[in-house]
Amino acid sequence: MLIDIGVNLSNSRFDKDIEQVIERAQTAGIERLILTGTSVEESRAVIAICEKFESQFPGSRTSNGIHPHDAKTLSPSNLAALRELATHQYVVAIGETGLDFHRTLSTEKQQEKSFEAHIELAIEFNMPLFLHERDAAPRQIQMLQSYRDNICNGVIHCFTGDKKTLFRYLDMDLHIGITGWICDERRGQELQKIIKNIPLDRLMLETDAPYLTPRNMPAKPKNGRNEPAFLAHVLSGIAAVRAEHIDEIATTTTATAIKFFGFTK
Ligand SMILES: [Zn+2]
Repeated sequence: MLIDIGVNLSNSRFDKDIEQVIERAQTAGIERLILTGTSVEESRAVIAICEKFESQFPGSRTSNGIHPHDAKTLSPSNLAALRELATHQYVVAIGETGLDFHRTLSTEKQQEKSFEAHIELAIEFNMPLFLHERDAAPRQIQMLQSYRDNICNGVIHCFTGDKKTLFRYLDMDLHIGITGWICDERRGQELQKIIKNIPLDRLMLETDAPYLTPRNMPAKPKNGRNEPAFLAHVLSGIAAVRAEHIDEIATTTTATAIKFFGFTK
């Protein structure tokens, strides 16, 4: 059984067939999905998905936050909304939050302000952080460091950084989320070289669906859309480059996610 710790299931590309997508995830041995909330609206939408599918798929939970791209939308009212949502039974993490200086769709200042507010929320509710970072590692590390003692846990989702950055995140006792990026023979080269440095019990699996469809799939979906059922391709991509057994990675990453998100089993 696997846990996909990052799925954008409220994305409009799932509108038409979300039921079948969830069914296929179940058939593919996915026992839990952590649905990513990237704004107040999307956070509410992913909670609604959990509620709707509670009997069919009781394993869905959410991470709630405002994506760094949308940091400019942070306001007292949507911060209050996030604080209220954090008490919801389905919410198990704060994020997606962090810094993205690759495509500064919000200014660096706006992103830092939003990131700081999310960190404070995670501390207040004693919840782990679901973190995004692109081309902003030094600042992200600096900000996390000053709060690290009070943050219970954090995962750098869809890690695509270099070796030095990886070691700094690991030194801070953070977890690392790996997506289908590892299956990409071009963009994934650096990650393939350094992934062996991640202790297996600090690693978790994610599809980041509908994005990042694994390139090692024998038959790629016609619409090019990624979905949680494809998580096994991420798993086999990791097993190939780490030269470890698939079962061992599956068992360990699932146990790690259970502990990380505070599930009772
Ligand atoms: Zn992200």
